Amino acid sequence: MKVMKFGSRSLQDSSRIRATVSIILAEKARKTVVLSAMRGVTEKLIAAAREAERGQATYHEHVKEIALRQAQSVEELLPQGEGTLSRLNGLLQELEEILTGIELVRECSPRSLDLVMSFGERLNCTLVADYLASLGQSALFLDAREILRTDDSHGAAEVDFAESYRLIRERFAGMGAIPVVTGLIAASKEGATTTLGRNGSDYTASILGAALGAEAIEIWTDVDGVMSADPRFVASAFVIPEMGYQEAMELSYFGAKVLHPNTMI
Ligand code: ASP
Ligand code: MG
Repeated sequence: MKVMKFGSRSLQDSSRIRATVSIILAEKARKTVVLSAMRGVTEKLIAAAREAERGQATYHEHVKEIALRQAQSVEELLPQGEGTLSRLNGLLQELEEILTGIELVRECSPRSLDLVMSFGERLNCTLVADYLASLGQSALFLDAREILRTDDSHGAAEVDFAESYRLIRERFAGMGAIPVVTGLIAASKEGATTTLGRNGSDYTASILGAALGAEAIEIWTDVDGVMSADPRFVASAFVIPEMGYQEAMELSYFGAKVLHPNTMI
């Protein structure tokens, strides 16, 4: 088993989604796919929630922009995509209702914000699972809230490993299809939506890999590896050919964007 995680840049539009899916299909091992939201969508969702809280009707614009990008990707990826589109629109409708609730009470608690943020990964995984299915693959949308248990510290919840491992192993037993798992999100014991913190999808991948005894956890991104410095600031930055977990952990702890610190632990 390999866990393959793709970030928002690998999923920013239909051509990136196509490239990502060809990487997934080229892998011959049994695989589990973990995806982030489309590029910029998490930021838009947070902005929409904050604007709704302040009573600014501009939040509808963010939802509209997300809807447009979704519709365009469906059109480009899925010629017979009516079913997918109507499921995505159902999710967006639910999102609008939650945002209206936030607008009415003029309050966005950390718990509500987690729920709003969850739509990015849910939309994207619905789309990609359907795209895989349209290529004749047996693929399955898997909402991580079914298999990841956390406490209720909304915004950066603590994982209950014993319970999550149990749920993951149970859910994956005898699984034939390729599961497309929502990164970032989980659920508390009470069933509320929680998140693992910004950039939490890497962490989702490593929890799944650990629970399943995966032979590898691959974190795919748009740079060629872990670099000696941020290439946007240091032109001479180079890819570090090989590094230990300890070194990688230190790098992420000191702010390297390429990995989430908990992922390395
Ligand atoms: N979409 C989430 C975020 O932007 C999680 C992730 O990308 O890892 O924080
Ligand atoms: Mg990331």
